[in-house]
Amino acid sequence: MLRVEALDVRYGEVPALRGVSLDVRAGEAVALLGANGAGKSTLLRAVIGLLRAHAGEVFLDGRPLGRLRPERRARLGVGYCPQGRRPFPGLTVRENLQVACWAGGAERTRRVEEAFALFPALRDKAAVPAWQLSGGQQGMLAIGRSLMNRPRLLLLDEPSLGLSPRLVDEVFAAIQAIRAGGVAVLLAEQNARLALEACDRAWVLRTGEVAQHGPARELATSDAVRAALLGG
Ligand code: ATP
Repeated sequence: MLRVEALDVRYGEVPALRGVSLDVRAGEAVALLGANGAGKSTLLRAVIGLLRAHAGEVFLDGRPLGRLRPERRARLGVGYCPQGRRPFPGLTVRENLQVACWAGGAERTRRVEEAFALFPALRDKAAVPAWQLSGGQQGMLAIGRSLMNRPRLLLLDEPSLGLSPRLVDEVFAAIQAIRAGGVAVLLAEQNARLALEACDRAWVLRTGEVAQHGPARELATSDAVRAALLGG
């Protein structure tokens, strides 16, 4: 479904990704691992089109995305949940979900209900302004928002960041439910143990390059992966 080929991304003169290639198959969950600053967020931003590649290409269903803007990529079925949550603070939880949805009427109501089914804690807070949510609830709302247009592929950037272990478990259970619904997931995550448990395959980035990739079960026991994740 997604193929990233020999991608180079720079911030000004500074290279952030060098020759990165990876792929995600339909319905599959793929982990993108790496230490702080390895380039995980940069890769997701390039896939959704917020950053322009200096070289290389992103393919969706075999078609090059070229310079397509993020909203066009979203229309093709790519959902993106950036790091750091950030709901609209003055809108209620329900409104935050509604404004993220292109569909209207009964279809929109149905999709809001789907988000509540995935995160029951949000249903209890439906009429509450988003600024009153805990960090964990904001994380759930962010994931719920990114699902409102029924993506086929969801790009998730560090959903566990700053959450308590209980909430991390909840978010990962939701990721499994999202997958079970047939959505492919590309998950950037610093918590390698959890991500490798949740995913089929994984890529490890180290200072902007692919250090290793393979089945998650194999990488979970690899010393080289451990070294890359520690930045050593
Ligand atoms: P983190 O977990 O901290 O988000 P990451 O693996 O997602 O790490 P990126 O955020 O993609 O890494 O950063 C990759 C590299 O690009 C780092 O060296 C970072 O300092 C640099 N970088 C990221 N964003 C910018 C920016 N807006 N301007 C300049 N350099 C940047």
